[in-house]
Amino acid sequence: MSKYLIKSGRVIDPANNRDDVLDILIEDGIVTAVDKNITAVAEEIDAGGKVVAPGLVDMHVHLRDPGRTDEETIETGLRAAVKGGFTSIACMPNTDPVADSASVIEYIKRQAANVGFGNVYPIGAITHGLAGERLSEMGELIQAGVVGFSDDGKCVMNSQLMRRALEYAKMWDKPVISHAEECYLAHGGQIHEGYWSTVLGLKGIPAAAEEVIIARDILLAELTGGKLHIAHISTAGSVELVRRAKEKGINVTCEATPHHLTLTDENLKEYNTNFKVNPPLRTQADVDALHQGLKDGVIDAIASDHAPHARHEKEMEFDYAPFGMIGLETTLSVILTDLVEAGILSLGDAIAKMSIGPAKILGIKKGSIATGAVAEIILIDTKAILEVNALKFESKSINTPYARRQLKGVVTDVFSGGKHIIKDRVIIEGCDETPVVFDAYKSDR
Ligand SMILES: [Zn+2]
Ligand SMILES: [Zn+2]
Repeated sequence: MSKYLIKSGRVIDPANNRDDVLDILIEDGIVTAVDKNITAVAEEIDAGGKVVAPGLVDMHVHLRDPGRTDEETIETGLRAAVKGGFTSIACMPNTDPVADSASVIEYIKRQAANVGFGNVYPIGAITHGLAGERLSEMGELIQAGVVGFSDDGKCVMNSQLMRRALEYAKMWDKPVISHAEECYLAHGGQIHEGYWSTVLGLKGIPAAAEEVIIARDILLAELTGGKLHIAHISTAGSVELVRRAKEKGINVTCEATPHHLTLTDENLKEYNTNFKVNPPLRTQADVDALHQGLKDGVIDAIASDHAPHARHEKEMEFDYAPFGMIGLETTLSVILTDLVEAGILSLGDAIAKMSIGPAKILGIKKGSIATGAVAEIILIDTKAILEVNALKFESKSINTPYARRQLKGVVTDVFSGGKHIIKDRVIIEGCDETPVVFDAYKSDR
């Protein structure tokens, strides 16, 4: 029987309204007590001066497996995730083949189970092959274990199809995740349309390309009563649209990424393709509006939109380089440094947006430290420095916009599936402890 006692950490567990110096006892992978001054014969982990939080949940990750295992595999993606404090991730279906059938979903689950730590929750495609022409077999995908639907990377331009998707997904209470981008307005755009696109001579993507679709999808959510989630919102207008929809009681949630919360289009002035992302980095006024949206609850979750790309592809001319940046290993530290340290967001709120917030949207029983549940817990040294050097990251790709930055806040220990998988910043290879419960799919369905 394994026994761990996490001693004297500042336990921040927003789901249970906890923010206090407490001990946590883990017996055979199960949290058996969260209290002051627990005494037990157990392997002690000194959490003095550290933050103890629920294992984080990243609801927007691209794993590239199947199809582009040169960029990421499910194993390297999971290693990157746990390194960054995310014990649960949801992966987008724009793989090759597309995750639009039970067999691809089963492949992803099998690969994830082979890794032996971390939880992977597949998201199924809304339309066959992400072609936007006919709906996928949504019922079959639900049976296979998807937690939601998205054509992420592409927008479902056909409003009738989007309506039907919201109606069908509603029958299983699953979210439809919108990649809001009016493709004709965005067509050929490289960066945000504004001052910098003019100065740099790059074709712009107007804010309206995002806002038009968000407005449409909100109307469709109102029409159908379906569960709508907007991925990576990036403009002040988008925040305003979601705010008004929520005030009207429409079933809509949204997420923001660390890069849209901390970077602007001015970062593009050196034509560094690691800053090329979709939706594009916007203006400071948009960043300010996103901060406000986080503070007042319009934005429910922070998600990395981890999008690994091969080096030779990112090193092409700006117009030809793919959109996307990696984020699993920097998200928490970026948020702690640029939002929490900067006084924009409280530590508790930051953790909530990366744990219980996304878990609720996906309908998974993660993101909290509950007595009687499998231990999914991380320890964060908020004073330790993370030097961003992607060559040392677990991810197979290195396309980060935060290269060479010194960020504050490092995950030192991780319990996932009841197992102690990261000890003093090192992943324990093989992880030979027997997992207590590892059928995340069964327990959460
Ligand atoms: Zn997207
Ligand atoms: Zn994405």
